[in-house]
Amino acid sequence: MSAFSGLRNIAIIAHVDHGKTTLVDGLLRQSGTFGERDAVTERVMDSMDLERERGITIAAKNCSMTWNGQRINIVDTPGHADFGGEVERTMMMVDGAILLVDAAEGPLPQTRFVLQKALAQNLAMILVINKVDRPDARIKEVEEHVHDLFLELSSNESHLNFPTLYASGRDGWASLSYEKKTENLGDLFDTILKHVPPPRVQAEGGLQMLINNLSYSNYLGRLAIGRIERGSLKMGQNLAIIGESGQRIAKATKILHYVGLSQAEVEEASAGEIVIVATGLEDLRIGDTIADALVPEALPRIEIDPPTVNVEVSVNTSPLAGREGTYLTSRKIEEFLRKEALNNVALRVEPTASPEIFILSARGELQVSIVMENLRRAGGECMVGRPRVITKTENGSVLEPVEHVVLDVPEFSVGVVTEKLSIRKGRMLTMQNFENGRTRIEFSIPTRGLLGYRSTFLTDTKGEGLMSSYFEGWETSRGTFSSRMNGAMIADRSGKTTEYALGGLEPRGRLMISYGEDVYEGMVIGEHSRDNDLEVNAIREKKLTNMRSAGTDDAIKLAPPMRLSLEDALDWIVDDEWIEITPKKIRVRKRVLESNKREASRKNSGS
Ligand code: GDP
Repeated sequence: MSAFSGLRNIAIIAHVDHGKTTLVDGLLRQSGTFGERDAVTERVMDSMDLERERGITIAAKNCSMTWNGQRINIVDTPGHADFGGEVERTMMMVDGAILLVDAAEGPLPQTRFVLQKALAQNLAMILVINKVDRPDARIKEVEEHVHDLFLELSSNESHLNFPTLYASGRDGWASLSYEKKTENLGDLFDTILKHVPPPRVQAEGGLQMLINNLSYSNYLGRLAIGRIERGSLKMGQNLAIIGESGQRIAKATKILHYVGLSQAEVEEASAGEIVIVATGLEDLRIGDTIADALVPEALPRIEIDPPTVNVEVSVNTSPLAGREGTYLTSRKIEEFLRKEALNNVALRVEPTASPEIFILSARGELQVSIVMENLRRAGGECMVGRPRVITKTENGSVLEPVEHVVLDVPEFSVGVVTEKLSIRKGRMLTMQNFENGRTRIEFSIPTRGLLGYRSTFLTDTKGEGLMSSYFEGWETSRGTFSSRMNGAMIADRSGKTTEYALGGLEPRGRLMISYGEDVYEGMVIGEHSRDNDLEVNAIREKKLTNMRSAGTDDAIKLAPPMRLSLEDALDWIVDDEWIEITPKKIRVRKRVLESNKREASRKNSGS
């Protein structure tokens, strides 16, 4: 085995907002390979907004630069455990990783999960304590925290042997010395070259490359991303694509590699390089091997985490459909979902008996909400049902997915968080108090128990809680627990809501709308304070007296309504409801809108 010494492949592990983008920009600029950020497609920019809002990395943005004649590929890692499988696959392409930690915030749970995966792959680690310029930086304390984390997660002495740098990505410097500020990022570049080994690959022999990720381009079609493990890849070369069941012959029709933030075509790439290849075949799979057609030898397959939840996605059939959006037909919705699935291997789209409804399977509720958010932002409308856990049957018993969840919560919320997770069939694994008033709790819990929990968690921790979970395995059911306790308040007729009507309804529950809004029969306008559904007239007008005119009524002061976000709504709804999603609105409605028919369908289903 020889090594391609002019090359380093590294990953950057960081919690969102700890300064990864800024630092990578600095590295690109100082290496003189600054790629045009404008060249990043609009789609990526869009998903970046989403990332900021949700505090997670969704789309991986790889890049490449040259320092002292050595090429450095930086591979982005998704920062959220719903994308856990992707983290592991990313780690397979690199030999080292930078752990970037904010000097004030310290390591957060998501960071921990990814670090664990990195150490499991024996990557050469570099710790960068970033934003040391912050007035509230706690550099030494944070460094100690990270050391504790390494101690806890390492399985091998060599894991503890990592260099530490102190940096301000914003000001463009990094220093190996705690005492001495430097002028640039030279120390970091040098540490990468010195500490991270070149890729351990075989330069000679027939081409072998594992498809590590897939992407899609409107111009080139299906693209395979991976690191060449053996031999080299040339334009026009005959390839064997070795899948789970047999192999096919294809051709390398385009080879790209990363240059700065964009991609450039190359004629040939050698072992160790991370490349993007078009083969003319559309149905490639992660885990397939791309080999020389004359030496068709497969590499060991990698498995990706299975989808754990699914939802029904339907054409918007509500009376208000089509007022704002454009993706209205089932054909358009299917097209959109299939495109999302092409870009994200964890997603699956299947038809149902109804031509208007599709099943979308994903790794967790969060992924579902991201797809729907993308659809809204593209001007689309649709309806989504309640997320359901995907089960599987093995030797006659039904198994459900179970997750390992790590929570980092303020002390005051420990009681309520552990209580609620226990009700949801969670089992506590460990609990650890930190001096900073925070507690880390780990649970093993059925995926089912986490559905709908996220917003409760944020409320219970006053928005200060952090939660991340990853797929652990399959188990027989731990038993049932009840979901939503409250019934819905349902509009019994269509029209515009009035202050008068809502004022009368307020004592019955929590309203989700305000006055002057359009409602339709069967639309959910609030949460009933009791457990049964309640049909209400939300458009009632005050009877006019001689003395007063209709208009607004000074006496009524409505409380601000409980506006459900898409995630809240996914958490909140029950089986006989849909979420209606339009570019501007999230509404909840009954599947059957007419009151008398709803009654009949309930009787038929026996509930
Ligand atoms: P990312 O989400 O990890 O990619 O983080 P960004 O690079 O987008 O940075 C997040 C925020 O932190 C931005 O407001 C940056 O201006 C700020 N930031 C980044 N690096 C530094 C730094 O070295 N010092 C300080 N004080 N702020 C920084």
